[in-house]
Amino acid sequence: MAEAMSRLGTETAFEVLARARALEAQGRKVVHLEIGEPDFDTPRHVREAACRAIDEGWTHYGPSPGLPEARKAVAEYVAKTRSIAVDPEEVVVMPGGKPVIFFSILALAQPGDEVIYPDPGFPIYESMIRFVGAKPVPIRIREENGFNFDPKELSTLLSAKTRLLILNSPANPTGGVLTKDMIEDVVKSLRRFPEVTVLSDEIYSRILYEGEHHSIAAWPGMKERCIILDGFSKTYAMTGWRLGYAGAPRPLTAAMSRLATNCHSCPASFTQIAGIAALRGPQDGVDSMVAEFRKRRDVIVKGLNDLPGFSCKTPVGAFYAFPNIRETGFKSKELADALLDKAGVACLAGTAFGAAGEGYLRFSYANSISQIESGLAAIREALPSLSKGIPARSS
Ligand code: PLP
Repeated sequence: MAEAMSRLGTETAFEVLARARALEAQGRKVVHLEIGEPDFDTPRHVREAACRAIDEGWTHYGPSPGLPEARKAVAEYVAKTRSIAVDPEEVVVMPGGKPVIFFSILALAQPGDEVIYPDPGFPIYESMIRFVGAKPVPIRIREENGFNFDPKELSTLLSAKTRLLILNSPANPTGGVLTKDMIEDVVKSLRRFPEVTVLSDEIYSRILYEGEHHSIAAWPGMKERCIILDGFSKTYAMTGWRLGYAGAPRPLTAAMSRLATNCHSCPASFTQIAGIAALRGPQDGVDSMVAEFRKRRDVIVKGLNDLPGFSCKTPVGAFYAFPNIRETGFKSKELADALLDKAGVACLAGTAFGAAGEGYLRFSYANSISQIESGLAAIREALPSLSKGIPARSS
């Protein structure tokens, strides 16, 4: 193996899912609150558009940065949802949002560079920063700041070596959302470092329970140094279609397009036609999905707060609850493992999202209210017996 492989991390959600499935194969019942994917069907008009596209022959290679009409539809959508002007040339369509992270870091960071990323945050950021040999510089996401970082701390981390700043709002795993004032502070700090590019991961931009989505790219002077990551996986319940995109300045879309040619050639043609239907078609499916997530959020947050030793803030966006479990006396990983083994509830340790996730668990509420309720009941029942079997935290 190449040495770089030893530096490549992973996304624990897929590992926990595999363990949960293995338990199910042995006949155990498992409540799945680990994986971050909407359990809704992709809207009918999108599925129909894909079937039609296959019949019409959209089954061949297309251009690496995406079909011209798909780039145009994304440019229109990004412009409309962020109030910025976007040219189709400033769009690259990708097989998912993840490749945007992969390609942005590959294109921009190298040994000697520093990349600032949220901790706890989506694990692929740190994994990829390490893989390319750049230095990961975590910025602490703090519960006491409404699951945001302290913009003052950002100004102490930015340096002449910083190449990239990764933001994620609404955030995985905390559900935190960057406020307008915070973005304002970030923009001010960045003015002193014109060489820093921002990767703004906005994959949950539509899964928001309060206020509006704010993209840092909308601030004066920021679009020129910003990569917007968004996609179809979460908004349109299209995780398995593998379709996402980057909105970025032309030199970066050209670099990502070159990487695409070297990697996957192009995104699948018929999924892009379906993506156009998703962006330009009726949006009521998104609204009703978010309304349902809100109900589930309220059920899970209340249920978690009723558990001894758990305290859970109400997430503002995305579909994750991130309860503080310090009072239980368990480390995150031991409690997450025990809940799967003893209660049959699959969730993730906060540490799956970085060292600063210690003391937390992540529950995805992309599951039905009845499943959420039976998961909560199983945890409540199992907790007293767990305390006997698991050593308490030493610190
Ligand atoms: N960014 C964040 C913060 C995510 O949580 C995810 C998926 O869980 C992605 C990006 C990747 O999305 P996709 O499935 O479109 O690759």
